Amino acid sequence: MAVDSGLPSPMGPPASERDAKALQLIEEMTRNPGAVQEKVLREILSQNAETEYLRRYGLGGAIDRDTFKARVPVVTYEDLQPEIQRIANGDRSPIFSSHPISEFLTSSGTSAGERKLMPTIHEELDRRQLLYSLLMPVMNLYVPGLDKGKGLYFLFVKAETKTPGGLVARPVLTSYYKSEHFKTRPYDPYNVYTSPNAAILCPDSFQSMYAQMLCGLLARRQVLRVGAVFASGLLRAIRFLQLHWPQLAHDIRNGTLNPRITDLSIQDCMHGVLKPDPDLADFVCKQCEGENWDRIITRIWPNTKYLDVIVTGAMAQYIPTLDYYSGGLPLACTMYASSECYFGLNLKPMSKPSEVSYTIMPNMAYFEFILLGESAPSLSRNSPPRLVDLADVEMGKEYELVITTYAGLCRYRVGDILRVAGFHNSSPQFEFVRRKNVLLSVDSDKTDEAELQKAIENASVLLREFDTSVVEYTSYADTKTIPGHYVIFWELMVRDPANSPSRDMLDRCCLAMEESLNSVYRQGRVTDNSIGPLEIRVVKNGTFEKLMDYAISRGASINQYKVPRCVNFTPIMELLDSRVTSAHFSPALLHWTPERLH
Ligand code: AMP
Repeated sequence: MAVDSGLPSPMGPPASERDAKALQLIEEMTRNPGAVQEKVLREILSQNAETEYLRRYGLGGAIDRDTFKARVPVVTYEDLQPEIQRIANGDRSPIFSSHPISEFLTSSGTSAGERKLMPTIHEELDRRQLLYSLLMPVMNLYVPGLDKGKGLYFLFVKAETKTPGGLVARPVLTSYYKSEHFKTRPYDPYNVYTSPNAAILCPDSFQSMYAQMLCGLLARRQVLRVGAVFASGLLRAIRFLQLHWPQLAHDIRNGTLNPRITDLSIQDCMHGVLKPDPDLADFVCKQCEGENWDRIITRIWPNTKYLDVIVTGAMAQYIPTLDYYSGGLPLACTMYASSECYFGLNLKPMSKPSEVSYTIMPNMAYFEFILLGESAPSLSRNSPPRLVDLADVEMGKEYELVITTYAGLCRYRVGDILRVAGFHNSSPQFEFVRRKNVLLSVDSDKTDEAELQKAIENASVLLREFDTSVVEYTSYADTKTIPGHYVIFWELMVRDPANSPSRDMLDRCCLAMEESLNSVYRQGRVTDNSIGPLEIRVVKNGTFEKLMDYAISRGASINQYKVPRCVNFTPIMELLDSRVTSAHFSPALLHWTPERLH
């Protein structure tokens, strides 16, 4: 039992033989990342030697790193789009991978307004499961007794579609939760969820959330950790409780199930656990009926030791709200992953959000890094880019992540910027710095500057009949509301004050902007309800000049000053808010259908 995990632990040895094995694997992988990475690359290149993609670059069966680096270009999604389109249309030839493409994973990153489609192969599920299997052994080193209760996790599947060629396209977590790996996972006392599979797998988000919340309330004393994948998901659950506690309490009091729950599998499993419990119903009413929701998580689930949610990257904006609802419980960010590839895990999950770093597991894929500040021309195909290997990154430096996966992505730029914050054994640990080119995000949506600009242009067309134009704009993601929403500040030039834009027209401008935003945003608005209505705040004339004066007073150069297209610095927000003349919200739900797969 007493196998030395090598991991710094306040707790001593691993909790079980199985944990010891998992920790041992982490040790082995991180002791010599260079050798593991070479082996991974050789495996990928031999497996995919006969693919159209590798043949195109004349690898001729070579599986060594130098030939690979010299011949295969660094690419973005847009470079691969023609091949991805062919696969989507039904081409089953080995384009990227010698293994059949089992499905497409729909990323929350978009290209030309639509979700990126990531081809994947069946064996990748094993790799994802392997990374999941390492999380609890690490957590058990820091938090004792997690086998004595349950985890209340809000997990969801999303709509899935088919490409014209018949491949399923769905988010990576939907794929994982629907897999046998998840559904028939063996019992593990350290990983018992309050949510039954039937609730997690119900595609109707209301029914799924309702059942998961009900189960969480029924098991409130057993709950030891509360979580969701991202912080925004957990806050949605709290908001759901605010809206629906009377019905939930009613069901608990009477042992009945809300008639809105029509999913037969959920009905089946809930009937087994629901019996009248007036005491619990009174308790829920007492906690929820007031205005004060401070520490609601610990009041309802008093044995919670930590919240398991990602609060790094764009999710950091939710930390104060989570602290409010939980009374400052530890926030555990356990892993770093994407649709393209699962990358790694946090070996000190109890560290403060600002100190979180992720250890990339060298057996997941082949990883390279572009040192930030390297100019784009050095990445042209004529002069081979200078990419650094996982084993060679340097402390304190920032890099863009590039991956080569078993599913056949080669030297693919993920778009994430990471900073080396330390090492575990010889493997680097990375702070997540940011995603490239993301201006606004409240959930998994990512809106870049060009998309915002286009949306503003489309909306301003409506102002023409009022002879009005948008002279300046900026934006911010307001995450104080749940769900969060985009706020756009507009300074208008109204040429004829007698014919200024009506309220109704400005409301419609909000809608026009939303209609122009990418499909992840629209899905968040329409089906997931994870993003609130977009708001336009019209500001007095001269406001953006004041903004510039302020920036210059703080040292900005007049020559180089550019209006920030997104703001979050409090004095600037105060300045903008103090000059708002009217606020407008998007009046209606917009259009989103999952069928638009190219
Ligand atoms: P998706 O392609 O929708 O699966 O999103 C993957 C992206 O989510 C990653 O490339 C990151 O930008 C972001 N992400 C995933 N895990 C984390 C994390 N632990 N911290 C910050 N951002 C993350």
